[in-house]
Amino acid sequence: MSEIRLFVSTTEAVAGHVLEALSDLFGEEDYAIATQEVDEGKAIWEASIYGTQDQEAEIAGRFSALLTASFPDLNLERETLPDIDWIAKSLEGLKPVRAGRFLVHGSHDSDKVKPGDIGILIDAGQAFGTGHHGTTAGCLNMIGDVLKSRRVTNALDLGTGSGVLAIATHLMSRIPVVATDIDPVATRVAQDNARINDVAGGIAFATAPGFHHRIFRDNGPFDLVIANILARPLMKLAPSLVRHLAGDGTVILSGILAEQRWKVISAYNGAGLKHRRTTWMNGWVTIELVR
Ligand code: SAH
Repeated sequence: MSEIRLFVSTTEAVAGHVLEALSDLFGEEDYAIATQEVDEGKAIWEASIYGTQDQEAEIAGRFSALLTASFPDLNLERETLPDIDWIAKSLEGLKPVRAGRFLVHGSHDSDKVKPGDIGILIDAGQAFGTGHHGTTAGCLNMIGDVLKSRRVTNALDLGTGSGVLAIATHLMSRIPVVATDIDPVATRVAQDNARINDVAGGIAFATAPGFHHRIFRDNGPFDLVIANILARPLMKLAPSLVRHLAGDGTVILSGILAEQRWKVISAYNGAGLKHRRTTWMNGWVTIELVR
């Protein structure tokens, strides 16, 4: 089902007040609420709430009532967010992909792995993550950098898809990794890929939406959390993700379009993390955050 965003355009200060009012009104429910600056020159801000199409009538009714009562000058606007077909994305191109020391390749290109490379064999299949998408490549680069420069003793790959990021993390560091996906087909594919890459013993798998599974409690908190999902679910997951992060942990987020980055960063600032850096690839960004 398509995701929708209901929002008002206003000044930074008023957007902040609307955000607070929306938090009071919807705080206990499972909606993402955010402000973002849309035009720096004109200092235009938006305060938004995100939901699915079937929730729109309900959210719009309550948001409109709030505007009438407290912000009568503001107009409620809406947009439908683009759907992403994960499977189609996973079949984009089949050439080997290099990201830092990692070389993600299909069976037909196993001979392309050179000494010094960390080769990851992923054949295009029923789960996202052949390395061709800018978000996967962005995460691989950042994982390589983080594992080189920081002490990381365990890791979590949330939304593992083909398992590519969990496999890369374990191959490079040999630390225990937890890999989960909301989609049972992805979990199965990821498990098969871990076996094919000879790292099945180092990665624990589970099918779970967000953090609803005991595997997180049993294996966490995590020094490194990687989540390549999408901006909206990432914003919703911010508080629980940070709860499962170790004291001096690092977070790598992707699946975020360049123009969505500020609202994702502000959701994680709100949960207590600091932005460290952002990298760009084909319109997508990968964000590193620390406590
Ligand atoms: N990590 C891989 C795959 C990313 S695709 C890579 O970087 O290439 C995103 C994956 O997240 C999909 O497999 C999707 O099923 C999963 N996903 C989406 N929402 C999720 C949620 N709330 N909890 C767990 N997994 C989720």
